[in-house]
Amino acid sequence: MTDAQHGQNVLVLGGSRGIGAAIVRRFVSPGTRVAFTYAGSEAAARALAAETGAEAVRADSADRGAVIAAVAGCGALDVLVVNAGTAILGDPLTLDADAVDRMIDINVRAPYHAAVAAARKMNEGGRIIIIGSVNGDRMPFAGGAAYALTKSAVQGMVRGLARDFGARGITVNAIQPGPTDSDMNPASGPMAELMHSFMAIKRHAKASEIAELVAYIAGPHAAMITGSMQTIDGGFGA
Ligand code: NDP
Repeated sequence: MTDAQHGQNVLVLGGSRGIGAAIVRRFVSPGTRVAFTYAGSEAAARALAAETGAEAVRADSADRGAVIAAVAGCGALDVLVVNAGTAILGDPLTLDADAVDRMIDINVRAPYHAAVAAARKMNEGGRIIIIGSVNGDRMPFAGGAAYALTKSAVQGMVRGLARDFGARGITVNAIQPGPTDSDMNPASGPMAELMHSFMAIKRHAKASEIAELVAYIAGPHAAMITGSMQTIDGGFGA
């Protein structure tokens, strides 16, 4: 038995790899309809769809129309998880401005428009969950300003949208991981030692650990948790 309820209609934006794929796996259960989007990783998306029975939908989160169409195409959702995200890190004096703006499209504009599109049809008591980052609270190394601003923006939209949709029992929350093993941030990568130096528990989280928290927030025991940032970071921000 999962925390997420059976018979639900679930969409995960950005589910082909990493944390998103773990979330898809966590939600798949008999009677639950799970769809996920992907942009670049078609082979991974197809493999995950074949493994889990979830539906893979190509939709680039940098394309507002594609995001809204993907959400609207799922009908009345019970759970929307916006996981799709990119991290463009580096010296702001030399970072490519178009790449930074594309990250803002994916990490900020897409969650906002997806949440609004979902809320148009969402069932009473629905759940909107956006994967933010502990870097929305703390950016302890150079080169992360643009990424951090996207994750701080998530905090503002979560607080506001929680008030907009609360009357229908819809909760809106952010999950804020710290370092989590994925293609974006491999546990064995060059940044790992630096990351661990900021943490009380000096290891990367597993994607499945993040997915467990998502499932809890999506589940029946979390109906009074809204407008909140749920940080799961091994003490990175402590
Ligand atoms: P990965 O790079 O491993 O995976 C990213 C996922 O997002 C892929 O499924 C990818 O799909 C999808 N995605 C990326 N861009 C787009 C796009 N334009 N349109 C649709 N889907 C897209 O990242 P993680 O799993 O590590 O990260 C997932 C989320 O967690 C992100 O929001 C990230 O900021 C956040 N996070 C991660 C942390 C970490 O340490 N890993 C820490 C804190 C937060 P595809 O390849 O098909 O395009």
